Amino acid sequence: MRTQTHLLTAASPGTQRTLISQHLGPDGSGRKAYIQASLHADEPPGMLVQFHLRRMLLALEEQGLLAAEIVLVPMANPIGTAQRVLGRTLGRFSLAAGENFNRHYADLSEACYALLAPILARGELPDLAQVRAALRAACANLSADSELGSLRRCLLGLAIDADFVLDLHCDSEAVMHLYAATPQWAQVEPLARALGAQVCLLATDSGDDPFDESCSLVWARLNEHHAKAGGQAQAWPLACVAVTVELRGEADVSHALAEADARAIVLALHHAGFIKGAPPELPALRREPRPLRGSMPIMTPSGGVLVHIAALGCDVQAGDLLAEVIDPLSGQVLPLLSPCDGFLYARESLRTVHAGMRVAKVAGMDALRGGKLLSA
Ligand SMILES: [Zn+2]
Repeated sequence: MRTQTHLLTAASPGTQRTLISQHLGPDGSGRKAYIQASLHADEPPGMLVQFHLRRMLLALEEQGLLAAEIVLVPMANPIGTAQRVLGRTLGRFSLAAGENFNRHYADLSEACYALLAPILARGELPDLAQVRAALRAACANLSADSELGSLRRCLLGLAIDADFVLDLHCDSEAVMHLYAATPQWAQVEPLARALGAQVCLLATDSGDDPFDESCSLVWARLNEHHAKAGGQAQAWPLACVAVTVELRGEADVSHALAEADARAIVLALHHAGFIKGAPPELPALRREPRPLRGSMPIMTPSGGVLVHIAALGCDVQAGDLLAEVIDPLSGQVLPLLSPCDGFLYARESLRTVHAGMRVAKVAGMDALRGGKLLSA
């Protein structure tokens, strides 16, 4: 294993932070997997999964069984990790910029396509290695004139030329679920089966450019640039499968869960060809994927004490009682009902809620929502 230390832009003199990446397996194989944890720095399950995953991959590396490079970033957000306010880590938003750490990743397609111009001008179609070199160069040209900008550039630079990207997150309280790109479901399914994901939410473009989509969508966007310039359609395959893995809820941190999840990721890497030899069989898929546009947020119109009624991870029908919000002053009970038939996969962990808060999420079958699909 080779460890690299990346220096972020210092916000002020004497405060420079570092990002650590760990590289296992042979480089130069032409293939690469990239796995990062806790980009939202207050989501700890991914860091423990990385702890177990590194042990497993080190053992495989020692036996010469890694077929390609696997990059681990066990703590992807040193800025958010240090944002401790009144005794709590606030790791979802940058306190300095007010931005979600998992939004606003660059669309490198235009800059990359421009860098490929000399090859295209010769009438040649750049191969995957040439496109990836251009992606790395386009990423290196991104501005890093803020600490947050340099973190985004650094993470994207480590992942943009990978075949397989896993971004490990968790929800508030939730069952295991995944977010992935609709056209890549066939490549994502083995991971979903290995992890025992209870639901997978698919979209082609969620809006606001989360990390995973910046890595995966760039290939579709490159194809669009090429077609617009008069080139052949689908010139390149969708060469990066990027998945956001929601490792249940923020309090679901145990060695038993993390070790099982790490084993599942190793199994998925095996099926994706990153580990030599025939892979063991995959368990069955728990549930067919659903459109992210069908994931319905349940909002509360008033504040009070939140009492969950429906069990997490159960099928519900439209009109089923999911939770109540109690007003202790008036004694009023506000019932919150499911807006659709679906699967209750996530819910709020706070029990004191304010008006306008989202308190649960139900994954329906029908794409009912438009606009931006991810929460703030
Ligand atoms: Zn997250």
